[in-house]
Amino acid sequence: MTDIEKRAQEMEEALRADGVRLTRQRSALLQVLAESGDHPDANELHRRAQAVDESVSLATVYRTLTVLEDQGVIHRHAFEGGGARFEAADMPHHDHLIDVETGDVVEFRSDKIEQLQAEIAREYGYELVHHKLELYCRKTSGNGS
Ligand SMILES: [Zn+2]
Repeated sequence: MTDIEKRAQEMEEALRADGVRLTRQRSALLQVLAESGDHPDANELHRRAQAVDESVSLATVYRTLTVLEDQGVIHRHAFEGGGARFEAADMPHHDHLIDVETGDVVEFRSDKIEQLQAEIAREYGYELVHHKLELYCRKTSGNGS
């Protein structure tokens, strides 16, 4: 079984755990969600799910996303400058860089930042439990040097 199939199956189980019937439409949405690595919003997920099954409605997309989020199998990101964006929750920890002009989301991970955050929490007498870091960026012209 591929990672994508495994992810889709986890999402199916999450729906079942919440007593939500796995319809053809929902199955199309799960497939699309499991495949997407680019943090799509609900409209984009709707568009992609419709490419698999025309009869998927936006209401189904919203309702299903809510259930999946409640069950902890997807994460909802409220990045500035747009609607909520979604991604599978089984990804290894990463932070996000958001292109303020295009809305593109780039994933990154920095051990330096991870350590620094833990240190800051410790300095204040805390143990770091979890964090979210969002960098809002504009692309530099040229090759970035
Ligand atoms: Zn991400």
